[in-house]
Amino acid sequence: MRITRRLEFDAGHRIPDHASQCRHLHGHRYALEVTLSGDVIRADGSPLNGMVMDFSEVKAIAKTHVVDPWDHAFLVYRGDRVIADFLTGLPGHKTVMLDVVPTAENLATLAFRILDPLYHDSYGNHLRLERVRLFETPNCWADAVRDGF
Ligand SMILES: [Zn+2]
Repeated sequence: MRITRRLEFDAGHRIPDHASQCRHLHGHRYALEVTLSGDVIRADGSPLNGMVMDFSEVKAIAKTHVVDPWDHAFLVYRGDRVIADFLTGLPGHKTVMLDVVPTAENLATLAFRILDPLYHDSYGNHLRLERVRLFETPNCWADAVRDGF
């Protein structure tokens, strides 16, 4: 069985070498979809009976470790020197310094790597992270899938 929880956040970025609009400083309403697979838990009397994982728990992990750190932050590539230095010089600015350019592909991969060890198979139901889908816009997204990158 697969289950998915969607979360949204706002962040700024730019793609320094982009041929078109994305080289400018701008922001997006991003959406993050976390898909887990596992067996449906069969345990009468358990609050998890009939579930792969409680959706609120799926959300809590993604919120704490990806959405809260990235929400209303500027996601900047460390190698984008002028912008990285500028943001570093802004007192108290919420900046997320990345080793890769902040494309949807790279952000999806990063989110997958952050979240993968956090979704444990605590109930012996083979729970695991299968996919992180990162929407940069409603029409553009990237999928980081297990064994797929
Ligand atoms: Zn953009």
